Amino acid sequence: MTTPLQPSLPYPNSSLSYWHRTTRAFPLLNQNDTKSVPASSPYAIIGAGLTGALSAFELVESGIAGTDILILEAREAVSGSTGRNAGHCRPDAFRNFSDHATHHGPEQALKIAETEDRVFTLMKNFVNKHQVPCEFTLKQTYDVCFTSETAEDEAKNIGEYVAAGGKMDGIQVYEGDEARQKTGFDDAVAAYGWTAASLHPVKLTQWILSFAAERGVRLWTHCPVTTISQGYQGDWILHTPRGKITSQKIVHCTNAHAGVLLPQLSVRQLTPIRGQVQSLVPSRTHSGGRVIKSTMALRTSLRNFYALLQTSGDGMIIFGVARSTGLTFDESGYDDEIVKEAIDKFGALFPLVKNAESLQGEGFDHAWTGLLAFTPDRVPYVGPIPELPGQYICAGFNGHGMANIFACVPGVVKLMQGAAWEDTNLPECYRYSEERLKAED
Ligand SMILES: Cc1cc2nc3c(=O)[nH]c(=O)nc-3n(C[C@H](O)[C@H](O)[C@H](O)COP(=O)(O)OP(=O)(O)OC[C@H]3O[C@@H](n4cnc5c(N)ncnc54)[C@H](O)[C@@H]3O)c2cc1C
Repeated sequence: MTTPLQPSLPYPNSSLSYWHRTTRAFPLLNQNDTKSVPASSPYAIIGAGLTGALSAFELVESGIAGTDILILEAREAVSGSTGRNAGHCRPDAFRNFSDHATHHGPEQALKIAETEDRVFTLMKNFVNKHQVPCEFTLKQTYDVCFTSETAEDEAKNIGEYVAAGGKMDGIQVYEGDEARQKTGFDDAVAAYGWTAASLHPVKLTQWILSFAAERGVRLWTHCPVTTISQGYQGDWILHTPRGKITSQKIVHCTNAHAGVLLPQLSVRQLTPIRGQVQSLVPSRTHSGGRVIKSTMALRTSLRNFYALLQTSGDGMIIFGVARSTGLTFDESGYDDEIVKEAIDKFGALFPLVKNAESLQGEGFDHAWTGLLAFTPDRVPYVGPIPELPGQYICAGFNGHGMANIFACVPGVVKLMQGAAWEDTNLPECYRYSEERLKAED
């Protein structure tokens, strides 16, 4: 009999993604990787992905002294899902409307879609305001349906979204010939277009960490928090292999791994699903003036799709195979069969231009895996953990973190400073509660 999967700390031997391989000179990458931890810090953020980095940023912006904030990261900075995704900020909750409405009702489902739209604007404004060099580029995105089943599913979701009062501003619908002509795929059945962005997620997060560090925030990498115990004066003690830290306020930004420190989040309540992404060096077909200007989700069945974009930096093609490759915390390698599937699929979708020969060095570059953290009711856990006063969580983004974190983190930081939930402007269904866990147990 196999033992059921238990929550796990991040694997120290996790692989490097394309995003990691192109940012190795980040000065804080392995910051304080051998030093003992400070004895205390009023604020402790666990996890240095986009959620943890932005939590530090928002706390500093709200007036907390940077020196009162400590980030603890199990591996190098930005080693988790933020550094392993497909490089997209793509608000698309309208196409999951039916599922969200089944779990939370149409009003909440609408609010989820609005939140993703808002995040897109928040991220865009943030990058513009701070001139963050992270290749953030607005692009037309397409959901391309290659079967009548996927087209019907998408039409159903959008129909229910509109019936509930959802706005179609900025969303274009193409059917039949129009879909084929717009996307260039002869077998497209339907397509939906709207605006999204491609970005280098590690460059964005590294920039935020640098900003926070310049204001005094301390970062300890390769320093997993292994347990948290109650202190004597209502504070908490974080245990790490390099010492203990006493803290008054803790934010769990640990994504799929949150259950290690919060046992109430069993693997059922926070399920790690491994996804795989490939990078391909473009041939003449997709380099120079022929780069793919839009981003795409190519839907071949109800559960599976291929995610495609070309980076604005070096033109690398990022091709994600969006289907579960297993229930695991292992991000250390990749599956060769999926690499082969990706290469074959890409070749079938985009045949070489006439007379273009493949050059040595073009084609498959690299592959990596990363964890998507799913919750039973498909929305993240956000806010205070009432049974552990002083501890907060922001995790479980169901593969939509890039489209949620810029709204969820400012919300959590407001809550840490005594604001009411209503002040966060977040969907009520995102709020963490024991009742929510019991309802889905
Ligand atoms: C293949 C793939 C494709 C994706 N596609 C999309 C997409 O198209 N759109 C979208 O919106 N989102 C997408 N996502 C999801 C998105 O990347 C995540 O939701 C987001 O990056 C989560 O950020 P985070 O900071 O919460 O978590 P992470 O980036 O995972 O950061 C958590 C950090 O916490 C650290 N940590 C964990 N436990 C401990 C501990 N006990 N002590 C210390 N440190 C700890 C980890 O090492 C990690 O660095 C995708 C993810 C993957 C893997």
